[in-house]
Amino acid sequence: MLRRLFALAGSLLLAALCSTSQAATATPDTSTASSEMAEGKVLVAYFSGTGITAGIAKDMADLLQTDLFRISNVQPYSVADMAYDEKARANQEQKQADFRPQMVGNVSNMEQYDTVLLGYPIWAGLAPCVVLTFLERYDFAGKTIVPFCTSGGSPLEPSIPELQALTPQAHWLVGKRFESHASRDDVRAWLQQLNLLGAHTSAAVLDQTAALTQSDQAKAPVFNFEQHSVMLNSGYEMPINGIGTYSLLGDTCYDAITTALKTGVRLIDTAYMYRNEEEVGRAIRDSGVPREEIFVITKLYPNQFFQPEEAIEQALKKLNIGYIDMMLLHHPGHDDVKAYKAVEKAVAAGKVRSIGLSNWYVEELEEFLPQVSIMPALVQNEIHPYYQENNVIPFIQQQGIVVQGWYPLGGRGHTQSLLNDPVITKIAQAHGKSAAQVILRWNLQKGVVVIPGSSNPAHIKENTELYDFELTAEEMAQINALDRNEKHDWY
Ligand code: NAD
Repeated sequence: MLRRLFALAGSLLLAALCSTSQAATATPDTSTASSEMAEGKVLVAYFSGTGITAGIAKDMADLLQTDLFRISNVQPYSVADMAYDEKARANQEQKQADFRPQMVGNVSNMEQYDTVLLGYPIWAGLAPCVVLTFLERYDFAGKTIVPFCTSGGSPLEPSIPELQALTPQAHWLVGKRFESHASRDDVRAWLQQLNLLGAHTSAAVLDQTAALTQSDQAKAPVFNFEQHSVMLNSGYEMPINGIGTYSLLGDTCYDAITTALKTGVRLIDTAYMYRNEEEVGRAIRDSGVPREEIFVITKLYPNQFFQPEEAIEQALKKLNIGYIDMMLLHHPGHDDVKAYKAVEKAVAAGKVRSIGLSNWYVEELEEFLPQVSIMPALVQNEIHPYYQENNVIPFIQQQGIVVQGWYPLGGRGHTQSLLNDPVITKIAQAHGKSAAQVILRWNLQKGVVVIPGSSNPAHIKENTELYDFELTAEEMAQINALDRNEKHDWY
């Protein structure tokens, strides 16, 4: 408790304080001997603010071929929240002795792990509060915990006593501080030192499900990068890249969809609110592409929820393509459960194939899901490098629901800052791809379906060429670090 009160007093002072308090606490077992490393399965669990710890943790899980769990707050941190400013949110939280932020997701099978490699950045000399939430949530008795941290210069040791006090029956080994620019070789060397490399092999950790444990991964939808598709929990296959039609009206919309279908795009996102369902339907009918090859998403707007059956019939009539592949509720709103149940009936009647939600986040989902019968197959939310929803995406995927991102390029009026971001343009240059393609590929590797909007034939084509390159874990981490909680629309 003392350590939080003195959190901002500087790490040297803290180091002194904590070594005293360590002697006074229940002397947990701490050793350096790698030969004492417990046999059995390893979990890499980490919290990351800017993506640096995430990069190291992912390398660890990758090298060990073991499971990875991202410890995340329900309320993510923006760049301003993590600023070196006493008033910034993270610093304020670090000062509170008993502050335990709510954590997203769960390690549903902690019993199976014998060793936990626990990573976090050092904040104000200490472990971020959510790491304490994580340790309090599970029983670590008999498990080995090996801490590692990332920091510019602050040591790891002062952050340990409080963590040990929460897990008195765990066996703690002396951990390691990594520099923020630590390489994969540095990570490998440490794992070798711990005698871990080679001993623990399980399923490969996929980048797109990196935030989930292995059993959660079993539920999380997995993208098929060969087929460019994902199997929905409704039993239908959906392409993982498509075209969005927001703000495309009349002939512009018709031409854009015609071009997209000629280019091979097979996923189209429209909505009642976009006032273009008729043009989308007409372009599909005129295209000559077999109906069953195309996947069409449309949405009911909240002002339609009070008479949902009529609204569904209206969408079917305007699109005039037989059935609707997926119907989303566009926003939470009055009567949303009633509207959803009407879509469930339309599924039973064969008019709609899959159901989804849009602009539903963790709290909204927790409240909504128990009230409906059919699990949504998809949630569509704002996602781009400046607004990443890293705490929401794993939560949705753990339910077996596919995540789709709107405004993948930042949205109209915001694309320039993203497309010219130096981190993204450098990665794009390295792969000989455009900035837009790098952003779209980053989404796909996170397990997020992309629906960029465009009426420009060159852009429409470019936005499909996403499968002849792959971003490395380091590049993913660099883009992850661009998150600044910057929403480009109000909902
Ligand atoms: P976006 O992020 O896809 O950006 C579109 C802008 O990027 C356009 O100006 C376009 O000209 C430009 N662009 C597209 N491809 C490009 C490329 N390769 N290079 C350079 N510029 C390129 O924004 P959006 O279209 O508004 O969003 C995508 C789709 O998401 C929408 O069309 C819509 O279908 C959906 N959406 C849903 C919601 C919701 O509440 N559910 C909200 C907004 C958008």
